[in-house]
Amino acid sequence: MAGNLTLTMIKPDAVKKNAIGGILKMMNDGGFKIVAMKYMHLSKTKAEAFYAVHKERPFYGELTEFMSSGPIVAAILEKDNAVEDFRKLIGATNPAEAEDGTIRKVYATSIGENAVHGSDSDENAQIEGDFFFSQQERF
Ligand code: GDP
Repeated sequence: MAGNLTLTMIKPDAVKKNAIGGILKMMNDGGFKIVAMKYMHLSKTKAEAFYAVHKERPFYGELTEFMSSGPIVAAILEKDNAVEDFRKLIGATNPAEAEDGTIRKVYATSIGENAVHGSDSDENAQIEGDFFFSQQERF
């Protein structure tokens, strides 16, 4: 059975664009409830740890540099079928391919600076949620 939690980050490009409010509204309007939330600046080391699965990818250096370039908002979101439905709401990795009405279509700049993160599986949603939040920080 599909889980009901996913982990998102509003990435540094979207925070710089003053888009936190607009993006949270799209998440709420999409039926997602905020279970946990933090506004923080990831160190390079923390960004490298979060994206360790992408270590071998050619863009790993660029990605971790970008994700530690400014503050982010991390949040755990709740909805039935959360991972799949949230991936639909954020749209394709490359905003040029993102459908109308998706968060990346509205707010992303490029394939690297693409405004939001969404977990790609229930297993990763749990790992990524635990990366940012203790049990006491979830409501
Ligand atoms: P996602 O699940 O849609 O976020 O995409 P991936 O898991 O494939 O990649 C993770 C993140 O790495 C993306 O959201 C982008 O921020 C970044 N990324 C992916 N492909 C590229 C690329 O070709 N160049 C750069 N600079 N970053 C990329």
